[in-house]
Amino acid sequence: MELQLSENQTFIAQTVRDFAARHITPFRNQWDDEQYLPLEVFRQLGELGLMGVLVPEAYGGSGLGYSEYVTAIVELAVADPSIALSMAAHNSLCTNHILEFGNEAQKQRWLPKLASGEWLGAWGLTEPNTGSDASNMRTVAHRQGDHWVLNGAKNFITHGRSGHVAVVIARTGAVGDSRGMSAFVVERGTPGFAGGKKEDKLGMRLSETAEMVFTDCRVPTENLLGEVGEGFIQSLKVLDGGRISIAALSLGIAQGAYQHSVAYAKEREQFGQPIANFQAIAFKLADMATQIEAARLLTFRAADLKNRRQSVNKESAMAKYLASEVACQVANEAVQIFGGYGYCKDFPVEKYYRDAKLCTIGEGTSEIQKLVISRAILK
Ligand SMILES: Cc1cc2nc3c(=O)[nH]c(=O)nc-3n(C[C@H](O)[C@H](O)[C@H](O)COP(=O)(O)OP(=O)(O)OC[C@H]3O[C@@H](n4cnc5c(N)ncnc54)[C@H](O)[C@@H]3O)c2cc1C
Repeated sequence: MELQLSENQTFIAQTVRDFAARHITPFRNQWDDEQYLPLEVFRQLGELGLMGVLVPEAYGGSGLGYSEYVTAIVELAVADPSIALSMAAHNSLCTNHILEFGNEAQKQRWLPKLASGEWLGAWGLTEPNTGSDASNMRTVAHRQGDHWVLNGAKNFITHGRSGHVAVVIARTGAVGDSRGMSAFVVERGTPGFAGGKKEDKLGMRLSETAEMVFTDCRVPTENLLGEVGEGFIQSLKVLDGGRISIAALSLGIAQGAYQHSVAYAKEREQFGQPIANFQAIAFKLADMATQIEAARLLTFRAADLKNRRQSVNKESAMAKYLASEVACQVANEAVQIFGGYGYCKDFPVEKYYRDAKLCTIGEGTSEIQKLVISRAILK
């Protein structure tokens, strides 16, 4: 595994930093207050090639690998974690599900619009009563001639209202059968498909999280991804890759909180000297830096394995588990280092602290990551 950033990665990191400094950082507090999803930013990210990072050039994407993808998410998350979350969900979940399991016609139809950022993607697995236990879902799809008819609701869906297209997993077989679910592409505007309640969240407030509701929603059979009964198994594979992106998101949050903490600790004086001179603060920085390096190694290792098309089931869960817990710990210590200022919105650590918590929940909680890891160890 290469530990130095490649020329490509260095270029991507600098491009994202420059872009964020002009188009994200000046507005993020206002957007955070208003829970505003800045669609124009995603179109611009599309122009930079960041809305189809893993999509081959033949379908309008950048044709890059997971290492470049992780680099882009880390830098975006330093600037604003919720933009990074939306970008990651669009790339890893919706777009990647179509890329991995769609047929040629489906790829031709949806990937160019998604990769260009013209369309924002959503991915619906979670339901009000089935989160960690997603395979127990109740949204159903019944075949009627050349259509599937969907009924049910998905909740906590990133871009559940604003997504132009969604990959939706619905039950096509018996409850309790892991082969009883199938994946469908549903375009916004399809009769019977509506966005529902938008969540008012603690953090990640620029990233829209909303319900998707299906009422006798007729989806043409050509929108089925892969075979009937493969939907849940496909989803687990999609999540294996997606968890690398949440690890990257966590890493960016931790890195951002740490960088601000180092600068502040050198600048803030108490008792006639910079607070960095106090061992209590210096040791916090030492712990933060060490945890971040550990999270970075696991995240780039998982990305490297994924690039080499090896199984990352355990490795992506480890990276996501460690990095997300590190993001919370580092953001917590960053607020402590900033003291009262850390608790106020004038400094970015307050926002990292709120945003970080999602990382231990989305795409499988820390407890579920430990289930995945322990099952892999004990099988
Ligand atoms: C901002 C945000 C964005 C999201 N985006 C999407 C999206 O785009 N698409 C999508 O499909 N979903 C999305 N989700 C849903 C997310 O994946 C779920 O919230 C997550 O999987 C947890 O499910 P739950 O919230 O129902 O919690 P539950 O499953 O109810 O878990 C509650 C608690 O019980 C624990 N628990 C549950 N089962 C076990 C077990 N077997 N062993 C030990 N502990 C257990 C959990 O770890 C947790 O601590 C999003 C969520 C949020 C908050």
